[in-house]
Amino acid sequence: MRFDLSDKKAIVSGSTAGIGYAIAKGLAKCGAHVLINGRDEHRVDEAIVQMRKEIPGARVDGLAADLSRLEGIEKMKSFWPEADILVNNLGIYEPRNFFEIDDDEWERFFQTNVMTAVRLTRHYAKGMVDRGWGRVTFNASVTGGFFPGEMVHYGATKAALLGLSRGVAESVAGTGVTVNAFIPGPTKTEKTKAHIMNMAEQVGKPLHQFEKEMFQQQLPSSLIQRFCTSEEVANLVVFLSSNEAGAITGAALHVDGGIIRSIL
Ligand code: NAP
Repeated sequence: MRFDLSDKKAIVSGSTAGIGYAIAKGLAKCGAHVLINGRDEHRVDEAIVQMRKEIPGARVDGLAADLSRLEGIEKMKSFWPEADILVNNLGIYEPRNFFEIDDDEWERFFQTNVMTAVRLTRHYAKGMVDRGWGRVTFNASVTGGFFPGEMVHYGATKAALLGLSRGVAESVAGTGVTVNAFIPGPTKTEKTKAHIMNMAEQVGKPLHQFEKEMFQQQLPSSLIQRFCTSEEVANLVVFLSSNEAGAITGAALHVDGGIIRSIL
């Protein structure tokens, strides 16, 4: 199936690197005019250059804006007042002991992971409803369904996004706008790769052996016994953003290598 998004404008929050960049690239490959975003001007410029290199002719704009702050949201709204596709990808994560996470940290996680998505969706989905077509997706995480003890705050924000996604889907019922959550499992990005390489180095094991043992011992329910790639996650989001996915809404779809032991 080939998706034609050439008449669509797509925003991907937090997309100069990682899963966000792969999603932006996937959408651009299908012809969408894409807005990529990060906080740092230089990294935004670099990501644009990279994308134009990878996809000659890609229509891509960039915006340096901290979307965890109201000013950043306002900046984005004035730069691109409308979009047909909104991918709420931005999310921060970090392992922390529950008893050491203070109120400010809880607030930072909720502002970044949840309120950014609320604010962007409230603005952009309204225009989609008025025009009768739109696609909104939320990047949840398997952590939103099973809570590892060292990521309670992160898991709570991702569980909130699952509820938000379903609730917004209900709010736009019958308008031509679909709203879904996608649920990645552990995904190899530049950041996670560096982290794993560091851990492998610390115990003096080659990366491939460390990864294999990590999945065997700590993530035995993974059916693929490896990380997902950012592109594999992006493929699902590109499909959900297409015309062809018009009957999928209010759903939460896993792209996690089968790590969650559930059919539904
Ligand atoms: P990442 O590699 O850390 O990339 C983060 C991106 O977000 C960068 O482009 C970064 O750019 C940007 N960013 C960070 N804070 C920002 C802010 N306040 N405003 C605007 N942009 C900001 O992240 P990732 O691992 O790809 O994760 C992306 C999403 O996938 C998150 O929602 C995460 O929870 C979810 N997820 C990840 C995994 C995984 O294993 N990686 C698994 C499940 C779900 P700058 O640093 O330049 O600002």
